[in-house]
Amino acid sequence: MPKSEDEWKHKLSAEQYHILREKGTELAFTGEYYDNHEEGKYLCAACGQELFGSDTKYDSGSGWPSFYAPAKEGNVKSDVDTSHGMIRTEVMCSRCGSHLGHVFPDGPQPTGQRFCINSAALNFNKKGKDAK
Ligand code: FE
Repeated sequence: MPKSEDEWKHKLSAEQYHILREKGTELAFTGEYYDNHEEGKYLCAACGQELFGSDTKYDSGSGWPSFYAPAKEGNVKSDVDTSHGMIRTEVMCSRCGSHLGHVFPDGPQPTGQRFCINSAALNFNKKGKDAK
């Protein structure tokens, strides 16, 4: 795994680097996965850790991939984000610390949570295909 921001810059595309390492946000309805309905796993685009599954993905209408739970509770971590004049809860990969998106308390049952995640922070592994 990269140890410095320079190494991350070499490993990731410019867009991925901006979102994952500089806490950027892709424009709504532009990402690769917001409208993806295939079965499979969503992995961290930076380190490959499994983060979300198609079984908890739903259409939130936001234009970003939305999930009501992570694949495993310990695979994401959160922090308070007070940027842009809002109080939000940032979601990060627990393994590499990369920024993924935010979580909001307006999701569907059974959790009531909406993990609003940038497509560029994810790699999708379609069910039946081996992990990269
Ligand atoms: Fe990661």
